[in-house]
Amino acid sequence: MSDRCYNFSAGPAALPEPVLKQAQKDLWNFDGSGMGVCELSHRGKEYDRILEEAIADCREVGNVPDDWHVLFMQGGATMQFACMPANFSGEGKTTDYIDTGEWARKAMEEAQRFPGTVNCAFSGQGENYNRLPKDSELKTTEGAAYLQFCSNNTIMGTEFKRVPKAAAGVPIIRDASSDMYSRPIDFSELDMIYASAQKNLGPSGCALVLIKDSFLQKSDDKHIATMMSYKVMQKKESRPNTPNTFAVYLMGQVFKWIKAEGGLKAIEKYNEEKIAPLYDFIDGSDFFIPHAVTEDRSIMNASFRTPNEELDKLFIKQAEAKGLKTLAGHRSIGGMRASVYNAFPAKGITALVDFMKQFEHENA
Ligand code: PMP
Repeated sequence: MSDRCYNFSAGPAALPEPVLKQAQKDLWNFDGSGMGVCELSHRGKEYDRILEEAIADCREVGNVPDDWHVLFMQGGATMQFACMPANFSGEGKTTDYIDTGEWARKAMEEAQRFPGTVNCAFSGQGENYNRLPKDSELKTTEGAAYLQFCSNNTIMGTEFKRVPKAAAGVPIIRDASSDMYSRPIDFSELDMIYASAQKNLGPSGCALVLIKDSFLQKSDDKHIATMMSYKVMQKKESRPNTPNTFAVYLMGQVFKWIKAEGGLKAIEKYNEEKIAPLYDFIDGSDFFIPHAVTEDRSIMNASFRTPNEELDKLFIKQAEAKGLKTLAGHRSIGGMRASVYNAFPAKGITALVDFMKQFEHENA
């Protein structure tokens, strides 16, 4: 019997069990070095290898083109909210943002702290962010420095399955914090992708940044902090200071795990099949109410509720007692949220749906 529960947390979230077991060993003694992985010098040969392998495996898993850089940066995705305008915007420039949820809005609000004009190309706030825009609804800017969108809205449970259309020639940045490497990526449509690690990749506090060289070269980092400069990060191999070596190590292990699982196509198929019984059940229920419209819903986060808040609370309490943990929805929308990233097991969805059936039967 495992002593682990089904952890539906939105992040930090469940990690692959083989990765955790390997990390347990490596924390004690990394590869026979006699030193634990958190005790290795970030300039030593062991860490050189960890970094090299993490980058190589990241490239292999994502099929990352050669003219893209793989960077590991600190401060999570929120630091990226600042890095984007700091590197690419400025006086006389405009940036486009698509506001499809709390995190997309926060990214846009952070850009407003910097010089330059921030254009909201679409806002779903008036509709409680329950759907995504069609390209025809976007009011984008000719010549913008970039367009930023959030591919998976972690709180609302909506997910772009396509890349929205920017004005001609405008670089596109994707916040993939909660759906990074959950499915294959078409790099031809993008110029940069960033993701906080704590959902699909590793521990919190670190961000994976994939950036096209031609876009990186456009950045102006004269007046910004060293730690926020994409050019510095690229030149200094993501270690201008002492980096979060453990996060890079763990992400490296997760990339190896994805390879062992058959790669991103297999992971995507697994994710789609995994969440289907949950959506099928919600669709067939007159009791549970989904937050997102059917065509835009996410394969990573499902947000739903019961007919009232008291029942939501009871649901969360009873689920917790059954080992179905951290199902409470984000404080901004309430209800429940099941976050089922790559490492979340299908058995956990079966257990959740069984519990939902029973709860509906007892409370409808
Ligand atoms: N973007 C998205 C889509 C997120 O879900 C989150 C975190 N939940 C963030 C950005 C912010 O990430 P961090 O907490 O690592 O700054």
